[in-house]
Amino acid sequence: MNDAAQGSVAALRELEGRYAMPTYPRAPVEFVRGEGATLWDADGRAYVDLFSGLSVHNAGNCHPRIVAAISEQAATLGGTSNLFYSQPAMELTERLVESSLGGRAFLCNSGAEANECAIKLVRRHAHRRGIDRPEIVVLDQAFHGRTLAALAATPRLAREDLFGPLPAGFVPVPRDDPEALAAAIGADTAAVMLEPIQGESGVHPIADDVLIAAREACGQAGALLVFDEIQTGMGRTGTLWAHEQGPVAPDVMTAAKALGGGLPVGACVTAPVVGEGLTLGEHGSTFAGGPICARAALAALDVIADPAVLANVGERETQLRDQLGSDPAVAGIRGRGLMIGIALAAGVDAGAVAAEALARGVVVNAPNPETIRLLPPLTIDAADLGEGLARLRGALDAAG
Ligand code: PLP
Repeated sequence: MNDAAQGSVAALRELEGRYAMPTYPRAPVEFVRGEGATLWDADGRAYVDLFSGLSVHNAGNCHPRIVAAISEQAATLGGTSNLFYSQPAMELTERLVESSLGGRAFLCNSGAEANECAIKLVRRHAHRRGIDRPEIVVLDQAFHGRTLAALAATPRLAREDLFGPLPAGFVPVPRDDPEALAAAIGADTAAVMLEPIQGESGVHPIADDVLIAAREACGQAGALLVFDEIQTGMGRTGTLWAHEQGPVAPDVMTAAKALGGGLPVGACVTAPVVGEGLTLGEHGSTFAGGPICARAALAALDVIADPAVLANVGERETQLRDQLGSDPAVAGIRGRGLMIGIALAAGVDAGAVAAEALARGVVVNAPNPETIRLLPPLTIDAADLGEGLARLRGALDAAG
């Protein structure tokens, strides 16, 4: 970075220090432009993007089809509330339902909101079954978001001492123990809620026997199975939704992140068994399903549901495993498709690797000190991925 770029970061730091709530650990770079799998900083320096803005730009940065959809709609009509009909919202609802669980969908504006909707929905469903104090079983190390109920469903962050009183009724169980999970499900269980592959904990796929135990025990208890596909969805694992590759299907699914093609869109989608879900007056949101965001989501779905893009995910996963598997700083590679957690060898610090990688011109993420997470655009080609991984290997060697 030259002096001008450093200067711009220093000025932003100054503003942040004075005015912003200090909630984020930001790296000292200001990105100002993106195209495909390339980002440019304020100095014009190019970086390989292996992070996609935290699995948001699955179609690549500034995909022309998404840009055109947003621009056209922004110049036509910005939205008139959910008290009137809107073609993009209804079309998006149809696309989400028909591509997944076949029931109904509620559109919203973020992942946490999608999960709030799912939590309200499964509680409402339980109340219809005569359960007064419904419980939701969740997994240790899960991440479901930062709003209060989503936080209560996130055991490692649900700090009663900091944010209490939190919504009650969330029952955490060990992540990898099918017996413990089945034992926690009983007459008061409204739902089991889980990510098919945990993202924020460092990319941990949930084992098939745990998913099967959850499905069977929910079936026996009349409870609903909820999959949080906010990070695993939108093609990230090589199919549009991760559960397509798993042994069981959920009754409720949440989506967000890449769903909006870069704009804030979330959704809670159901299977027919859930019925109408939430009804008149039971839920709502001003911006939900607004036409600009909905058109962006439809364009993102068009790009990502392309079989060639989904096939690319598997091909690039193979390339990635081949290129990184033999690195002495790598102890193992977890995940599926282009949702990858690299377990680092003992003594290699992920924060140091991510910082060194950034300095070498590749954007990666360290969700914890032992793991490097890669979430490249699903459209990345072999050359860009190869270059990004070569730079990452340089960083691993330097830090190892
Ligand atoms: N659920 C999962 C699995 C996530 O990865 C995230 C965000 O990282 C969320 C929920 C929360 O989404 P948002 O940040 O859009 O509220």
